[in-house]
Amino acid sequence: MTDHEGRCSALAAEFEKARARGRRIGLRKSTSNLFRQRDSAGKHLIDVSGFDHVLAIDPERMTADIEGMITYEALVDATLPHGLLPAVVPQLKTITVGGAVSGLGIESSSFKFGLVHETVESMDILLGDGRLVHCSCRENRDLFFGFPNSYGTLGYALRLTVRLIPAKPYIRLVHTRFSDPESYFTRVEEVCAEGHADYLDGTIFSREEMYLTEAEFVEHAPSTSDYTYMEIYYRSIQRKAQDWLTARDYIWRWDTDWFWCSKQFHLQTPAIRRLFKWGLNSRTYQRIMRLSYRLMPDSGGTESVIQDVDIPIGNAPEFFEFLLPEIGITPVWMCPFNTRVWDLSPLREGLHVNFGFWDVIPSTHEKGYFNRKIEKKTMELGGAKGLYSSAWYDEPEFWRIYDRKRYGELKQAYDPAGVFPDLYSKCVRRH
Ligand SMILES: Cc1cc2nc3c(=O)[nH]c(=O)nc-3n(C[C@H](O)[C@H](O)[C@H](O)COP(=O)(O)OP(=O)(O)OC[C@H]3O[C@@H](n4cnc5c(N)ncnc54)[C@H](O)[C@@H]3O)c2cc1C
Repeated sequence: MTDHEGRCSALAAEFEKARARGRRIGLRKSTSNLFRQRDSAGKHLIDVSGFDHVLAIDPERMTADIEGMITYEALVDATLPHGLLPAVVPQLKTITVGGAVSGLGIESSSFKFGLVHETVESMDILLGDGRLVHCSCRENRDLFFGFPNSYGTLGYALRLTVRLIPAKPYIRLVHTRFSDPESYFTRVEEVCAEGHADYLDGTIFSREEMYLTEAEFVEHAPSTSDYTYMEIYYRSIQRKAQDWLTARDYIWRWDTDWFWCSKQFHLQTPAIRRLFKWGLNSRTYQRIMRLSYRLMPDSGGTESVIQDVDIPIGNAPEFFEFLLPEIGITPVWMCPFNTRVWDLSPLREGLHVNFGFWDVIPSTHEKGYFNRKIEKKTMELGGAKGLYSSAWYDEPEFWRIYDRKRYGELKQAYDPAGVFPDLYSKCVRRH
């Protein structure tokens, strides 16, 4: 028995124990990027932190065989010495491969390679009854195509084979400024169609100040910037027309300041920042966030708006015109991606734009007022939002978006005893 098989057997036994006691099952991991707070009292938390190994890298086939709870930071550290990178690397070091596949993980290469699950060749999923099922586009196809966007409600991915791409040592970035949304999104479409760039994303500071960042692998760089300490990446976009980073620093350019959200902890003030050299990363920020949820429960007067919203490219200018005046959060991250149809993904085939906006805003309205507005506008424009943070849909509305019939069939086939909660209970219900 390999070490991985040993870990699987031990986990299946722990599952069995929890089920025998009739307890709800939850994951115990050392990191989590979820922004929907739930009470874990009464749950049997299963320790899966040991599933964080690279089992093999095949440079010929350009694939990595890995365990499901490995962080992208560890995976990138393992592939780069081979001159390879995962085809899609979500931008925070602590995001895990299983979390990104069971959600709809994304990054700036997604306009070429699709969402994270579209770069997966096969998976081993631990079901609620303790069975380990291998699935791919040939075997157990329904589970393979039904797993993305299931958020651990069908089973847990313990082992995956993911596609890698060739990398070069450096990345050259070109930041182009736009001052009207129509030409901005037209250019996004053009760059995606041309296909010359290796990476493409954007940063919106205001209606008049929007940047598109095209990035490409290069063998040499005249000099490289460093955004891991005192220099702040998102500010550099406003100052530099072009820039060079090592491939590793490009991949983690957003991690140092959690995009720009480190401002919540005053870490963009130089005197404070200087003291926290080793704490400038997503691992620290999510720990502080979790602690603050516990110490300072929501006291009213504000609303937390932490959302990633996916909109078909043709409707992106309209969403943009809604977002800035009605919600008022800036900066906004803009990331184009191409996707195909997957069972539980509410997105249609084609080019979309992901808008990421994360802040706490003043509110004199009822709870969830701004988040509801975003959900309604997103539905109206044929889009969908990530379910990793708070959702306010009522149940009929939710199931109109997330295909109750197909989900019910998958649940019946793979979790008939309801060991895991259903998608609505897990992602929307607060109690
Ligand atoms: C500021 C900010 C920036 C972000 N940037 C990005 C980004 O660039 N790209 C991106 O893709 N996302 C981004 N996100 C969202 C983030 O990807 C999601 O929160 C993601 O679900 C986190 O995955 P995790 O690995 O931390 O999983 P967790 O937070 O631990 O879990 C997420 C969900 O997945 C389930 N799950 C976890 N592991 C598995 C598994 N092995 N098998 C089955 N189900 C599992 C859990 O049960 C849970 O429901 C961002 C969020 C914020 C707030």
